[in-house]
Amino acid sequence: MTVSDDSDPTAPELESESELAFEGALRPRSLAEFVGQAKVRGQLQLLLTAAKMQDRTADHILLAGPPGLGKTTLAMIVAHESGRPLRLSSGPAIQHAGDLAALLSSLTPGEVLFIDEIHRMARSAEEMLYLAMEDFRIDIMVGKGAGATSIPLDLAPFTLVGATTRSGLLPNPLRDRFGFTAHLEFYDEAELTQVLQRAAVMLDFDIDRAALAEIAGRCRGTPRIANRLLRRVRDFALVRGGAADIEAVRGALELYDVDPLGLDRLDRAVLHAILERFGGGPVGLNTLAVSVGEEAETIESVVEPFLVRIGLLSRTPRGRVATPSAWRHFGIDHPQQVGSQQPSLMDDL
Ligand code: ADP
Repeated sequence: MTVSDDSDPTAPELESESELAFEGALRPRSLAEFVGQAKVRGQLQLLLTAAKMQDRTADHILLAGPPGLGKTTLAMIVAHESGRPLRLSSGPAIQHAGDLAALLSSLTPGEVLFIDEIHRMARSAEEMLYLAMEDFRIDIMVGKGAGATSIPLDLAPFTLVGATTRSGLLPNPLRDRFGFTAHLEFYDEAELTQVLQRAAVMLDFDIDRAALAEIAGRCRGTPRIANRLLRRVRDFALVRGGAADIEAVRGALELYDVDPLGLDRLDRAVLHAILERFGGGPVGLNTLAVSVGEEAETIESVVEPFLVRIGLLSRTPRGRVATPSAWRHFGIDHPQQVGSQQPSLMDDL
């Protein structure tokens, strides 16, 4: 997870302290308050109710999807709805099997353990987790070389909630041990308007409905970004002294470089590179990442899902290709020979 500055409200994983406090305050506390994702909500409700009726811990849950769609929020709701305490950790914090052993052995019976970015956990810890998820048991290795022995340790039963932006990177044995996998989708404008309405009420911010709809159409289908843009619009209206209307939204979003489709700087940099440097593609992920100075993982898990979803980019076996809509959006003429450029040798596709 990247920690960046406070200046880009569309950065999907911006984590300054004030942003974290702001997000915490707006997080829905129950499934009923959680907007959208109707199918996932129904499935989770059933799973939690069945566990409650049988007085057991709920099955392990994997939440997959781009940043800001509500994975952490759902993990908190799972704990809250099942009346269990919640422990928060993340893949990058688990760099050795020992880190995981310490975490698992300190859980109280029934606790919900949330591991964010679970695909970034150390391999050795992953293997320990298989056994822990299945049998609530781990083997702790003591000593080294020929004299090494393993001591079995029983764990309190727990529910693991794993979150990942890259479910494809999880090894199959780990993926198979989750009783339920939810794939979170981008939100539509009506749902985002509802998220924004709820946030405006909680922030005691008087903003008109057309203004909320305008933000909803320009937040990359992502509640986290919707809430952040709302805050920027509130600042804008406060400082300029005008009403919080559609004009204020347009002014604030122009100031923060959010375009009419909600594309942010990195989205635009990626599309510009494909269109202007690679003749529209196909271009491989790694070449693209180098040309915009960003990590391939960020391009793949943060930028691309939304561009694919709104039809500006397609992923083909030969690489990434800008669609005709992308050419139109940027007002660049489509060259005669799109696709004449070959992917370079460093490309992985
Ligand atoms: P993720 O863990 O997927 O990156 P979070 O759960 O941290 O995303 O969500 C980011 C913010 O977006 C939360 O603080 C919450 O305010 C808001 N949010 C996410 N999903 C919803 C939803 N379905 N309804 C209302 N608000 C939401």
